Amino acid sequence: MTTEQFMEVAHQRPPELEAHLKAVAEREEGMQLRIEAKLLHLRSRSREDEARLLKQATKATKAAQKVFWLRKAADAMSAPVYELSACTAGCSHCCNLTVPISRIEAEVIARETGTQINKKAGIKVMDDQVDLQSIARDMSEIYYGMPCSFLSKGRCTIYESRPLACRLLLNLDDDDLLCKITPGEEVKVPRMNASEHELWGALALGLNQQYDDIREWFPMGLASSV
Ligand code: SF4
Repeated sequence: MTTEQFMEVAHQRPPELEAHLKAVAEREEGMQLRIEAKLLHLRSRSREDEARLLKQATKATKAAQKVFWLRKAADAMSAPVYELSACTAGCSHCCNLTVPISRIEAEVIARETGTQINKKAGIKVMDDQVDLQSIARDMSEIYYGMPCSFLSKGRCTIYESRPLACRLLLNLDDDDLLCKITPGEEVKVPRMNASEHELWGALALGLNQQYDDIREWFPMGLASSV
């Protein structure tokens, strides 16, 4: 896009969006250093508990037990970071983003909540033929701004059984400015790095399985509970 074209698009934006994007651009300056300073004292914390819980998950033989230990590990990791994050009870911005879940985890959630699972959902992503990154990118675009099927009046209706992805998604900024959905604009939110947990989760639950967004596994949310 040329500078002229960019200026033309900028002029077409509503003034509130323009003001929001300006605030976002200002916030993004020096973000990395601010986040690092904020998390500095957490570096020295012991993560033995988390490691033990993740190992328990890989040793467990039943799907429900694996998910149980993975949730415990995710909560152990998130708890100290949550105190420093922008996330607060009642905030649901991230419930309008993609929530990828494995079939095993979806089946556990279905049993716990009495919700019907859509058996046709599920894309096999650990297959050599499938480009995992492009699927993740597509899912992010498709579900951006779309409320989760379990979100009701700004609250999670399956909080105790909420997916690992939800437990591990924390905004490390000071407030929710960057979380605000801006259709057509890509805003990077500084998230807690949960890649280690995601890897352990994939190892515990099995590498070669299907994943999909929560809205595909449970299109009706709790309305389908029996
Ligand atoms: S499962 Fe609950 S916490 Fe997770 S996205 Fe849906 S409503 Fe939000």
